[in-house]
Amino acid sequence: MKSALSDLHLHNEEAAFAHVEARLWPNGPVCPHCKGTERIGKLNGKTTRAGLYKCYTCKKPFTVRMGTVFESSHVPLHIWLQVIYLMASSKKGHPTRQIQRALECSMKTAWFLGHRVREAMKALKVEPMGGEGETIEADETWIGGKAANRAFGPIPPKVAVVSLVQRNGGVRSFTVPRVTATNLAPIIARHVNADTRFMTDESNVYSHAGTWYASQETVNHSAKEYVRDDVFTNTVEGFFSILKRGVYGVYFHVSEAHLHRFLAEFDFRYSHHSKVGVDDAERAALVLDGVKGKRLTYRTVGGKRPAATSP
Ligand SMILES: [Zn+2]
Repeated sequence: MKSALSDLHLHNEEAAFAHVEARLWPNGPVCPHCKGTERIGKLNGKTTRAGLYKCYTCKKPFTVRMGTVFESSHVPLHIWLQVIYLMASSKKGHPTRQIQRALECSMKTAWFLGHRVREAMKALKVEPMGGEGETIEADETWIGGKAANRAFGPIPPKVAVVSLVQRNGGVRSFTVPRVTATNLAPIIARHVNADTRFMTDESNVYSHAGTWYASQETVNHSAKEYVRDDVFTNTVEGFFSILKRGVYGVYFHVSEAHLHRFLAEFDFRYSHHSKVGVDDAERAALVLDGVKGKRLTYRTVGGKRPAATSP
């Protein structure tokens, strides 16, 4: 039996570079400085670090890490790929503390790695979801505000999260200051194709949020109605249950400032789950499609008190 964890690119630095290069440069190396693809040579000296190329057009060296979330990190690429694999394959998320222990790095490094991987998981495609014959369920939930997660100080306020789940498809989640028609309208207009069947509970914010979809059907939860033929919101509620078990059970506390990245992580995994035919290794490879152009610095992540707030 061959374990996915024995793949060479998770253990060998040269293999890790070859793996990432094949994904990011399907037609061969591209110079990140001048975008040149000709006159590029691989540097293979004994003391040369793995994956180093030189562009003879602009005379500059580069690796595939440049211009990606991997840039300016001292963590070897094969270790990055291990973190990506763990995060892409754990349904409810992978604790920062476990990454720190597995890598024997500082909590600060583990916390930062996690956030950069989450950044890579952010959906690149922003075309509307749904379409003719497709069904999207929408609902809202509140995250945070649990006294048990707070040793001292005031209990942080709950944050409203709205998710759009396409049946047999992906999910997109958003934080909103308040669940109002005004806040939901632009999200629905941008992310839901107008030919979609749209399903919600009886809350009328969605009906006031616009009629950009073919039909809106509601189930009346207050009258104890949960399913009427194929009109239900169980899919989005199922997603919320995974999200909450992850946020409260794995990450314990997610601050409002970082919640959008955690939502990206849960959206990503759910949208590429095994039911839609994506296995763990493929899901990890899909993360690589999002690493480009997302060079995060510790400052832009807003790093402060990492160990205390994100165990
Ligand atoms: Zn160049």
